[in-house]
Amino acid sequence: MRRFWVVNIFIFAVLASAGGLAYYGYSYTSEVSTRERGIIVDTMRELAEEKVVGIESQLSDTYDAVFNAIHLNTLADLQTLPQKHGAAIASIFVLDDNLQPLPDGSVSSHPKGFSKFFLSTVLPQLPLRQLAPRKRGHVHFLHLDPNGRPYLFVFEHRTEADRTYYVVLEADLNHLVGLVFPQFFLMRSPRVYRVVDDEGGLIYGPPFTDEQGGVVVEQPFSETVDKWRVRVTQRDAPPAGASSRRQIVDSALIGTALIVIVSGLGFLALAIRRERRANELKSEFITNVSHELKTPLSIISMFGELLAMGRTKSAGQATEYAEIIWRESVRLARLIDNVLDFAKIERGVNAYEFAEGDIGEVVSRAIELSQHRLTKAEMTLEADIDPDLPLVKLDANAFTLAVLNLIDNAIKYAPEGKRIAVALRREGDQVALSVKDWGPGIDLDEQDQIFERFYRAKAVRLKPIRGSGIGLALVEHIAKAHGGEVSVTSEPGKGATFTIRLPAASS
Ligand code: ADP
Repeated sequence: MRRFWVVNIFIFAVLASAGGLAYYGYSYTSEVSTRERGIIVDTMRELAEEKVVGIESQLSDTYDAVFNAIHLNTLADLQTLPQKHGAAIASIFVLDDNLQPLPDGSVSSHPKGFSKFFLSTVLPQLPLRQLAPRKRGHVHFLHLDPNGRPYLFVFEHRTEADRTYYVVLEADLNHLVGLVFPQFFLMRSPRVYRVVDDEGGLIYGPPFTDEQGGVVVEQPFSETVDKWRVRVTQRDAPPAGASSRRQIVDSALIGTALIVIVSGLGFLALAIRRERRANELKSEFITNVSHELKTPLSIISMFGELLAMGRTKSAGQATEYAEIIWRESVRLARLIDNVLDFAKIERGVNAYEFAEGDIGEVVSRAIELSQHRLTKAEMTLEADIDPDLPLVKLDANAFTLAVLNLIDNAIKYAPEGKRIAVALRREGDQVALSVKDWGPGIDLDEQDQIFERFYRAKAVRLKPIRGSGIGLALVEHIAKAHGGEVSVTSEPGKGATFTIRLPAASS
């Protein structure tokens, strides 16, 4: 009972740890893939931020230089300023505190009408009046003119010699896209950089053909072109499907491992059950065999003693006693043969010596050997042996033992039927020996089990019929060793027929 509990607790512990391990494995792989994705996203965000800061600080350096170069008393030099600063500036407007252009206060690389367009359309939209003195601001327009051309205006509220005025720079966005962006984005890298506007339109970079399913990170500009964003995609990022595919593979592996563990435990439980049953049967076998050995021995010793002491009334009685002793010793010898052969088989020793022989002769001899027991049981045996049988490759001793076991069983279990029919016939390229009785038969659900070693049918366990449960196991082993088989057909209450089929020798 204690062992039972230990085994059950062990099985439960293995199952629980396998379940825990499976759960841990699954959550670990999903956590790793989430973390991996998180790291990729963080790296890409940092890189995007770096690019944005780099571009914006380069732009604001340029704007600083231009703003610093403009003074009220040097407006005449305004025309040369854009060239001096690398053409990053498309227009400059210097306005008085009423937002009127100052003389010499405007320069533009656009065609003539642009100043008018600036004063009438752009200027009213610039929050110049809200700007505190010496402060700077910017406005990024996406749809200022009907062509949908983007503009960036950067402006400053200035005071100089008690005069307030405003400087408005129009950044050259073609220069930004055509020269500055490539400086920052054109490099060999596992990432693809694009600049897109608020509406998703592509401003700079390759067309969006490689973005499906990958990781995408965006970082907006804030100090300058704030309606544009840097968008980064990982060129070799595992597509979203790949991580779920990996998760499926991981789950399948974990599932398989679990199935293997559970079925292993199942087999273990089955093996333990079988072992326990075999042990029970073995101890039953030992009791039965000792009992079977003891009975003939005590009969032999009792009648031997009577003979030795001359306690016989007549010579006839002495012969009768001697016959009893002889019969019991034959029975004893058969039992010992059975046990020894069985032990040999159990140990895996090859116990057979085959030779082509006349199977009819072997069966007749076995019948002869059983004659005495038949008479004692008041039973008759009808033998029907085909005289024209093929030769069979057999071990005569082993086969005799098998036939004796079948006849013995019929005598032991079916004496009320009064007769036994033994038939030996040819069946195609086989020879079939059948032993039929008219006894109680065998329950359907036990017809397979009776061939198991040590198994005895429930019906006989309660009766005083002696047996060890190894006879039929031995018969089956002998039949199989001859390349044949043994089977039983029985209708409970009407008797049983055991049949051994052996292949005929090919010559
Ligand atoms: P044993 O006879 O020593 O018990 P066997 O292996 O020869 O062992 O037989 C196994 C069981 O099969 C027997 O215990 C008996 O229940 C059943 N059996 C065998 N032969 C017959 C038969 N002719 N009629 C009914 N039951 C039988």
